[in-house]
Amino acid sequence: MSEPGDQTRAVHGGEERPNGLRSITPPIARASTYRFESLAEALAVVEGRAELDDYSRYANPTVRTAERKIAALEGAEESVLFASGMAAVTTTLLALVRAGQHIVIPDDCYRPTEQFVTETLPRFGVETTMVQAGDLDALAEAVRPGATRGIFVESPSNPFNRVADLARLREIRRANRGVQLIVDATFATPFNQRPLALGADLVIHSATKFLGGHNDLLAGVVSGRSGIISAIRDVRSQLGPVADPEAAYLLCRGIKSLGPRMRAHNENAQAVAEFLAGHPQVREVWYPGLASHPDHALAAATMRGFGGVVTLRHTGDLAATHRICDAARVFQIAASLGGAESLLHPPAIFSYWDLDPAERQRRGMHDDLIRLAIGIESAEDLVADLAQALEHV
Ligand code: PLP
Repeated sequence: MSEPGDQTRAVHGGEERPNGLRSITPPIARASTYRFESLAEALAVVEGRAELDDYSRYANPTVRTAERKIAALEGAEESVLFASGMAAVTTTLLALVRAGQHIVIPDDCYRPTEQFVTETLPRFGVETTMVQAGDLDALAEAVRPGATRGIFVESPSNPFNRVADLARLREIRRANRGVQLIVDATFATPFNQRPLALGADLVIHSATKFLGGHNDLLAGVVSGRSGIISAIRDVRSQLGPVADPEAAYLLCRGIKSLGPRMRAHNENAQAVAEFLAGHPQVREVWYPGLASHPDHALAAATMRGFGGVVTLRHTGDLAATHRICDAARVFQIAASLGGAESLLHPPAIFSYWDLDPAERQRRGMHDDLIRLAIGIESAEDLVADLAQALEHV
């Protein structure tokens, strides 16, 4: 039989056939610890002569099923699952760097990722250079031969949907031995893009978002070659941010419908973006599926779909942002994205309110900016809801 297609891997990938229960869906292994038949059996595991589950902070059957399913989808040798996307980001970076080394990151990453890299890692002697998003010349110059250990990018980025030029980043990485190219592809999902095939060393997802798909779990995942994933897995065992088996089960269940859901997210987001682009009360729309987006050509060449997040700037002020958000009926005011339900939030309030207003403006987090997490409801209802909400500008 030829290589199974994406959606066959999403449904069946990583699952034991038959499993111990002969059940069609993977069982949830709740136990925290596992029984050995004899001390000799335990010793065989300790010495690496036998592979048996021992303790769920190290490995768990349901977590392993989710890891294998994601590895199959991502085209990775291995994946490792975490309790949240941030646990995946922070544990990966802690596993890679040591004091005296250096990380390069653009200035448009998810705020807690940026804070970890610029505020927490320096406390352990790791330096960071933050470069302007999209300026790959600045990024190449920021790399310090022998010291830079990682280039970390988000693609598409949050909230402006900037798409990373992975071919160019791969060249920069190749010219600098020891550098790892890490891509947070939460917004893309393996359905829209597979960064490992385009030159990334590691791909990270907040599985809380599209992979889980139903706004009912927290999880994160990192995929790549076995050697590096096993080093990350070791640090996970020390730090302990493992995914709960229940969340791992829900994640497997969510991933089974990834293809149909992503098609719906992509189509709905395109319809919403096109509607907003023609709306008199909307001054900017940031969606890579629009020809007006700065990365449209790159996205069209390297992605299968443009994703389920649309960001807009309306023509009003902060009070108008309140009125629009409060008037929305199908869209609900909430953080997060990638679930069945459409959500909206102004990044200035949800992620950047602690900064002084001038710094918020400098970062593009204007009072009139609203991020839309496009769900899988009927597109015409999403458009109608935004049409009535925008009357309140
Ligand atoms: N990376 C991106 C791009 C995100 O948008 C988020 C959350 O919004 C995270 C990482 C963190 O994921 P989690 O909330 O699952 O910790």
